[in-house]
Amino acid sequence: MKPPPESSVVVPDSAQPADLLSRVISNDWVNARYKHLVVAAPPQAAQARPGQFFHLLCPDAGGEHPFFRRPMSCYGASPRQGTVEFLYKVAGTGTRSLASLVPGATLPMLGPLGHGFSLEPAWRTIVVVGRGVGLATLAPLAEAAAAAGIAVQAVFSARDRDSVMSVERFEASGARVTVVLDSDGSSDPAKVEALLRRLHVQGMADAFFTCGSTRLLVLLQRLGRELGVPGQVALEQQMACGLGMCFCCVRPFREDDEVVNRRVCWDGPVFDIQEAMP
Ligand SMILES: Cc1cc2nc3c(=O)[nH]c(=O)nc-3n(C[C@H](O)[C@H](O)[C@H](O)COP(=O)(O)OP(=O)(O)OC[C@H]3O[C@@H](n4cnc5c(N)ncnc54)[C@H](O)[C@@H]3O)c2cc1C
Repeated sequence: MKPPPESSVVVPDSAQPADLLSRVISNDWVNARYKHLVVAAPPQAAQARPGQFFHLLCPDAGGEHPFFRRPMSCYGASPRQGTVEFLYKVAGTGTRSLASLVPGATLPMLGPLGHGFSLEPAWRTIVVVGRGVGLATLAPLAEAAAAAGIAVQAVFSARDRDSVMSVERFEASGARVTVVLDSDGSSDPAKVEALLRRLHVQGMADAFFTCGSTRLLVLLQRLGRELGVPGQVALEQQMACGLGMCFCCVRPFREDDEVVNRRVCWDGPVFDIQEAMP
């Protein structure tokens, strides 16, 4: 993604990444598959920008020994309280071991890493579309937009009502949330497209932001091209170092008429929505 002009970025500057020792405050289930981890962290960690991530050194637990660190988006960061939050799906070796962390445990975390989202001061309303863990990445963006005086229309896609998370979190920052579900068919791409078109007609779609679903990414790319709406996407890719050195997370992107390779950890994880190749 071409970096926006400095003057256009309305999110604060990021701290330099560092390998930091955090202390677990809480690590609670939010539903059957997701946990919310809150850690007390040094000041530079709490300055993480929306879209940035930390590389977490997951502990040995339950006979499992996660070798590589696991990348995790910053779900919240409060310099005032000295806290950083993560929302994660307990999926495999690394996240199962994260799930075992109890209050008081230490958690080494490298970060904040990567390039996050940028907001243009001229935007009045942005549309944020997420699914699953994508909401963890998008929540701080909604809060930064609100702080910059930009309204947020959020569309949450989920399997069923029990899988819906973070609605209160988004609404607390003033976002207007619409939930669409697989269980009642409202997440059908044609229906989501109709909803997004309505927002655009009402002048409430100055930019699209997304994370967590290839299907939604493809839809937003097509609509963005047709309607002339810019956008950004936060991508997930298997990572090893998280620092741009190992090239494990390289994937192809469109740049003008060329296909170029970029490192998701170093050049992203947030990219121009039209440059991402699903
Ligand atoms: C920038 C970034 C931000 C992320 N933020 C979040 C978040 O906020 N919440 C959350 O639940 N998950 C997030 N993920 C995905 C998270 O890192 C994986 O879900 C997690 O690594 C799964 O690890 P595991 O050991 O439990 O699973 P395993 O299946 O045991 O993982 C095996 C390997 O695959 C990698 N891997 C598995 N799934 C993914 C994936 N979706 N993306 C990248 N690598 C993967 C693991 O890191 C590990 O190296 C993020 C990924 C990236 C790249």
